[in-house]
Amino acid sequence: MRRACVAGNWKMNNSVQESISLVKELVPGLDKIENVDSVICPPFIALAKVSDLIKDSKIELGAQNLYWEEQGAYTGEVSPGMVGEIAEHVILGHSERRAYFQDTDESVNKKILAALKVGLKPILCVGETLEENEKGRTGDVVKRQLTGALKNVSIEDFEKMMIAYEPVWAIGTGKAATAEGANQVIKEYIRDEVASLYSGDAADKIRILYGGSVKPENAKEYFQQPDIDGALVGGASLKADAFIQITEAAA
Ligand code: PEP
Repeated sequence: MRRACVAGNWKMNNSVQESISLVKELVPGLDKIENVDSVICPPFIALAKVSDLIKDSKIELGAQNLYWEEQGAYTGEVSPGMVGEIAEHVILGHSERRAYFQDTDESVNKKILAALKVGLKPILCVGETLEENEKGRTGDVVKRQLTGALKNVSIEDFEKMMIAYEPVWAIGTGKAATAEGANQVIKEYIRDEVASLYSGDAADKIRILYGGSVKPENAKEYFQQPDIDGALVGGASLKADAFIQITEAAA
């Protein structure tokens, strides 16, 4: 039985003050919900403050990215150790980073290995673009992303991770994938590829979230699917009531 998880990706939204206000609303609401892991991923500058505010709550903290080198002359970057000192999870391979910041399967792999080395739990994002989807290439794309990102990741480390299936055409567009369609990709391509990279048991155990325009109105449909274990939520994670409602639907 896989435990449900709802993770909020705040992206480049919320100042430190706005983050504090949002967390103060989230804590009492999310703490009441049983049987679901809640993860919030604020911008780097708010991580330390948010970490203080959630330390007595059940909310877990994630970052949205990191750089793979341990330290040094990499102006503007944040190392795995710096993130690992404060957070438990890190989103890696998000399609916005692949599209705007040159993340590739190879660099995502370096980041995953570096994150795992310091004890962080990566949330690996995979998903096809609209064009790839229309050309029937979804399976090839997600399998390539998984194989590339998971190179040299041991099964023990893999078991600490989560995967998020996020079709690029569904992110921030309001055009969510159907629940059945998302479940099919997760089952037939993602779990199947995990089974061939690791084992059937690993494929059964790994938590796979759906991400792409999840809202309180459609969340339940996803969570009723057998292979969807939760959601990675962007826009709707910026409103406390919406994020709490989505988490309640997962419970
Ligand atoms: C995301 O960025 O991971 C995401 C799923 O965004 P949204 O929910 O806004 O589509």
